Amino acid sequence: MDEKGDISDRMEIELNKKNFSEWYNDVIKFAGLCDKRYPIKGMNVWTPYGWKIMRLIDSHIRDELDGTGHGEVNFPLLIPNSEFQKEADHIKGFDSQVYWVTRGGLNELDVPMVLRPTSETAMYPMFSLWVRSHTDLPLKTYQIVNTFRYETKQTRAFIRVREIHFFEAHTCHADFEDAERQIKEDLEIMDRLSNKLCIPYLKRKRPEWDKFAGADYTIGIDCFMPDSKTLQLGSIHQYRTNFSVPYDIKYETPEGDHKNVYQTTYGMSERLVGAIVGIHGDNRGLIIPPDVAPFQVVIVPILMKKRKDDILEKAEWIRNELIKAGFRVEMDARDIRPGNKFYHWELKGVPLRIEVGPRDVDSGHAVVVRRTDRAKRTVKFEDLVDGVVQELDEVKKQLYERAKDLMKSNTHNVTFADEAYNVGRGLINVGWCGNEDCSTEMETTLDMSMLGIDTTTGTYDGKCGQCGSPTKMLVTYAKTY
Ligand code: ZN
Repeated sequence: MDEKGDISDRMEIELNKKNFSEWYNDVIKFAGLCDKRYPIKGMNVWTPYGWKIMRLIDSHIRDELDGTGHGEVNFPLLIPNSEFQKEADHIKGFDSQVYWVTRGGLNELDVPMVLRPTSETAMYPMFSLWVRSHTDLPLKTYQIVNTFRYETKQTRAFIRVREIHFFEAHTCHADFEDAERQIKEDLEIMDRLSNKLCIPYLKRKRPEWDKFAGADYTIGIDCFMPDSKTLQLGSIHQYRTNFSVPYDIKYETPEGDHKNVYQTTYGMSERLVGAIVGIHGDNRGLIIPPDVAPFQVVIVPILMKKRKDDILEKAEWIRNELIKAGFRVEMDARDIRPGNKFYHWELKGVPLRIEVGPRDVDSGHAVVVRRTDRAKRTVKFEDLVDGVVQELDEVKKQLYERAKDLMKSNTHNVTFADEAYNVGRGLINVGWCGNEDCSTEMETTLDMSMLGIDTTTGTYDGKCGQCGSPTKMLVTYAKTY
């Protein structure tokens, strides 16, 4: 198998996005993004096409992190229990989710080890060696690795798995303000990434009871899926000195004092692929945003017996021109009906198709078809590079607008939680006084979870949706994955 996948003729598959859960599993299977037949539940095999999408996402993440002064590191997978136990709150959060390694060969290990569920406890003992002076700060690192969590809930490809392809940035700063600046930078990176993936997102400061184990506060990055649930794509954490005290990460100030560093982390995972699948796909299959599509353009020559050679020649010329211009291009010259080829590449979500038939060659143009709305446009051969730039841009816009509309049309502002009965499912924005009991009541009424506080508006002036007390805090509730 290669990135093109199984290219034999295939019976048309029925896909119906209205049955979202079934549709999601089918589209992943038939488009060939991963193979779930590996004999460990929740550990799927990345197939070439799916892995290429993930690698392209990773390359954008690397560009962003390298471009903002982070250094890429790669830490060991195993963490000795002695280090893992140092930060008590953190351990409590992961206790039920870690895999243990207790034997080496025939010997029981003196110190059992965990497979990293995340890397704080692997990195921070080393950070305490690396950070010596204020001149070592800020220390900005990241890694892209696999992490392991023993999920007991129902697993789902890319969304809930036990071996997770994971991105994690870890930074150390001289003071709280500099750590806050880092969080601002993380959110700017998220904005640019969301633009490339055509996925609008919510940032919500998680309530105390839902923050990351060991964090001072957590900002959740959530997107809205077509089944009316939110999917957490990533999170950003302010640790203050919660880890640097137990792990003894200190620096010498210009005045000669020794102080603990302030730390942040920023994490995202293969859920980004799950969001692309879920949000953009339709009843024909995937639609991959151009910036992360393994093939941005597929060229389909319409081969007639008598004209085969000159049509192929033209198609190859187009392919070479587009590759020269920097596009990722595939040509499908198989000897099967064009309809089958269209079907195959639509299922795999290639954003643009170029058709070249005998009439096109005679009239000096090709037909360019967008995957999003299947709109066709004829473009002169010599203008194809510009045409492809424009059409890919249009695909991006359409994907982003559709996703934004989906989120917007499912967002409801209510004054009291029980009004939400009338507006239905989706995202519910409501005031909250800050009392946990009020939120618990609202969660029960709505049958949803609190995503957290909207820190973006800053101008809310209303009442708690439960007790009616005046408040400036607006919060969002949703059903979550
Ligand atoms: Zn209240």
